Amino acid sequence: MTEPQPKPTKEELSARAARVRLLVFDVDGVLTDGGLYYGDGGELMKRFDVKDGHALVMARLMGLPAALLTARTSTIVEVRGRELGLAAILQGKKEKTPALHDLLTQFSIPPESCAYMGDDLNDLGPMSHVGLSSCPADAVPEVRQEAHFVAQNRGGHGAARELVELCLKASGRWEEAVGLMRRSEKKSGRVG
Ligand SMILES: [Mg+2]
Repeated sequence: MTEPQPKPTKEELSARAARVRLLVFDVDGVLTDGGLYYGDGGELMKRFDVKDGHALVMARLMGLPAALLTARTSTIVEVRGRELGLAAILQGKKEKTPALHDLLTQFSIPPESCAYMGDDLNDLGPMSHVGLSSCPADAVPEVRQEAHFVAQNRGGHGAARELVELCLKASGRWEEAVGLMRRSEKKSGRVG
């Protein structure tokens, strides 16, 4: 492993976050707590956080799309991703870095305008490929060491929301996003 990079200063982090035009998330351990609930027929359940969901909807409404990139495959992820209106749901990607590269090409997004959040060793590849790498508070030590931004919250408990907030605040869109969510909540009752 290469020597750990020093963490960016607040200003450097904000500059990286302001450039982000696409958010990419690993699923297990990032949007969930990493628990995999099995029954006789295979995977039964995952637990997602509604506040993370709200944040991803908020980002989408503000023109900041999000995508999922996971090595595993589950109908549950497809259902949740569709519910949140995510831009792409990439599953079964054992090699995450080439999959991320293809995704960025498809969306015409340069790597420096992408943020990635992962929690385990197989996320180090995509993390080193983007302008803003991030992880939940309970990511493995190697990932915490590499990430530009380590969330205060754990995976499946608000870490994803912190990344959304960081990017929207850095680009001066947070207040507008809050106002938008307030209005859309009144209109639809349920958004995330
Ligand atoms: Mg994971």
